[in-house]
Amino acid sequence: MIKTLDTFDFKAQPSINEKLVRELMVGDYVDRRENVLLVGNSGTGKTHLASALGFAGCMQGRKVRFLTVKGLVTHLTEMTEQRQLERTFNHLERQHLLILDELGYVPFSKTGAELLFEVVSRAYERLSLIVTTNLPFESWTEVFGCERLTGALLDRLTHRGHIIEANGASYRLRESKRRLLRPRSQPQESRQTQPRQS
Ligand code: ADP
Ligand code: MG
Repeated sequence: MIKTLDTFDFKAQPSINEKLVRELMVGDYVDRRENVLLVGNSGTGKTHLASALGFAGCMQGRKVRFLTVKGLVTHLTEMTEQRQLERTFNHLERQHLLILDELGYVPFSKTGAELLFEVVSRAYERLSLIVTTNLPFESWTEVFGCERLTGALLDRLTHRGHIIEANGASYRLRESKRRLLRPRSQPQESRQTQPRQS
């Protein structure tokens, strides 16, 4: 789903560095092959912002791909089986900006972790990556299962990288609570005649 900054309420998420987000929207970081890491709890707008940055990139004429980490790893695993892996890597390398959404929700198999590492390695200084994650850095080893690989991956991602932290309350949850608490608007007469519901 396309999301833009017009519909993003920065006041609802004061932990987010608005100035940095607005600077990134200009797109120069892509020319410099810099990465962006959006880190924070669920529902804090990470995917919204990643999508807005991706959409801005498209409007600037850049080649952008938006993938979930799980979708990418599954695709790469299938391509390995079909001996098409190199073609897929070449295709990814031709992008200017690759957005990898939702790192950390699902732990990786050893092969999955190695495939993702390969993507990050090949992207390093060739194209920009935006990664969204709910994982604090100290927990990355648990998901990747290997300390050395995690260190090397984080090194590549964060070198020349921008980190946007989103650590407030979930916007999703806030909206749901607001909806549930909103009084139902009913005409006066029908309210009187309706039977009580438990
Ligand atoms: P995350 O990826 O951090 O889990 P999302 O970006 O998917 O969160 O946000 C969840 C929902 O709430 C989406 O529909 C998103 O558009 C909306 N949302 C989140 N934060 C904000 C915000 N600050 N202003 C407007 N909408 C927001
Ligand atoms: Mg998300």
